[in-house]
Amino acid sequence: MEQYRFLMIGAHPDDMELRCGGLAMRLRRKGHQVMFLSMTDGSAGHHRMTGDALRERRRAEAQAAAAALDVAYRIMPVADGRLEANLKTRELLIREIRTYAPHVILTHRSADYHPDHRACGQLVMDCAYLLNVPLICPDTPCPNLTPVILSAWDRFKKPLPFAPDVAVPIDDLVEKKIDAALCHVSQFYEWLPYVEGWADVESAATFEEKTALLRAQLRARFAGEALLYPALVPDGVCFAETFEWNEYGAPLTDELRRAMTDIPAEK
Ligand SMILES: [Zn+2]
Repeated sequence: MEQYRFLMIGAHPDDMELRCGGLAMRLRRKGHQVMFLSMTDGSAGHHRMTGDALRERRRAEAQAAAAALDVAYRIMPVADGRLEANLKTRELLIREIRTYAPHVILTHRSADYHPDHRACGQLVMDCAYLLNVPLICPDTPCPNLTPVILSAWDRFKKPLPFAPDVAVPIDDLVEKKIDAALCHVSQFYEWLPYVEGWADVESAATFEEKTALLRAQLRARFAGEALLYPALVPDGVCFAETFEWNEYGAPLTDELRRAMTDIPAEK
């Protein structure tokens, strides 16, 4: 089987861990290459820490997650909460994508509650055609490769609900996926309980109690994603990651689908 390069582009450090962490591990175990790219530096993701201290903490957390998933990890020098789909970030991203030359890009959809997620999804679509236009960013040669583009699951229904084309069973990987997500201590133990109102986690007395609550919450989230799409998720599978094909990229082939899922093409 061909060895593929997957580029998982999130708006923030932790986004792709939550959406593609199981797929990333499955691919790495089969010898494919995986790189996570965070479009922003995470510097708005806290209620007490700021500036370089937060940026550096989030970089270290991302590196811990990268080690847990066995993937490469890059963080773009763009301020968290300020990502825009403009020419400057488009050209930054064109150079990143051309340099890695991925067969597959995974990212956000462009309709999502967070403006950085929306901009990130938009930016990938804005880059798609221009990747192979040599007069755009002529300092970085075109890879002569049109990537497949897949959007990771989200819960939003307008203007269109998420309609997955592939589901990746992750029952065997879900606990390790949660380990990787929880490397982002500043987020799961501090910022998200504060901003999302997770009172049980906030009030838990010890790190261990918080961890148990967070693990249960994440298991429920990943199980919920699998339950939504019974036609795609094989019987008996409890946890899955789901992805929607974006028509601005290359077609999703059966070989690629098998590389991602291990499910025979008929299912
Ligand atoms: Zn995010």
